[in-house]
Amino acid sequence: MLSVYKIRKFSAEFETKTPQEIIEWAADRFSPIMAMSSSFQTQSMPLLHMVSRILPAMPVLFIDTGYHFWETLMFREKIAAEWGLNIVDLYRDSRWDIFVRQNMRLLPVEDPNLCCYLHKVQPMQNALKEFKVWISGIRRDQTSVRANASILELQKDGLLKINPLLNWTKEDVKRYVDEHNLPSHPLLEKGYRSVGCAPCTVAVGVSDDERAGRWAGREKVECGLHTTMFSKKDISESQNEFHMDVTKVEK
Ligand code: SF4
Repeated sequence: MLSVYKIRKFSAEFETKTPQEIIEWAADRFSPIMAMSSSFQTQSMPLLHMVSRILPAMPVLFIDTGYHFWETLMFREKIAAEWGLNIVDLYRDSRWDIFVRQNMRLLPVEDPNLCCYLHKVQPMQNALKEFKVWISGIRRDQTSVRANASILELQKDGLLKINPLLNWTKEDVKRYVDEHNLPSHPLLEKGYRSVGCAPCTVAVGVSDDERAGRWAGREKVECGLHTTMFSKKDISESQNEFHMDVTKVEK
């Protein structure tokens, strides 16, 4: 792998490279120890399209929370089949099944941080143990947390995270989607400009922020995959971020 010095150097150089150039650089060096993640939204299409052209065998990690809109699952099936993507579905650890079944409706409302940890963060942490490199589609213009990200980020556990679209804006996404005539998530036309889990996503107006419909009316803006929650190894290290008494559940 690369030294911290080289990672910083490449990251700075990549600020002026295209996403395709960054993906090609990564594919040359890190395949097959590299995977990308995708939530299969409209804004996910450019990165998926680039990967399907540059390295179609790359595993595409999809977190199946069990709370998705059926439109997302059907859209995922269609794109995966048409573009020949190598999808790997991720699920919560089965030891949480009883707890989640008992609290299925309440959990996203009462404690979305715990819910996101169980359904998104922990499955991704477990899946990425198999890989050394993670390609993500985050952009700086999406949230204040993402605004401070780097194109290459070395995490504490040695995982190298690559964000090829970090410098892109929503206009860049639209331009690429239009140029390549890419399909849109079926809920986009109903006002869902960013689509997450059904209990935590609402439609927004055309002038609203792209992610305004995610956890609307709450302080939460990130699921935890791209925050410090992800780099914490287990739930006990994240306990201050949760409210439910999870110690009762783990017995
Ligand atoms: S987005 Fe909502 S439903 Fe999905 S995992 Fe997070 S809190 Fe749970």
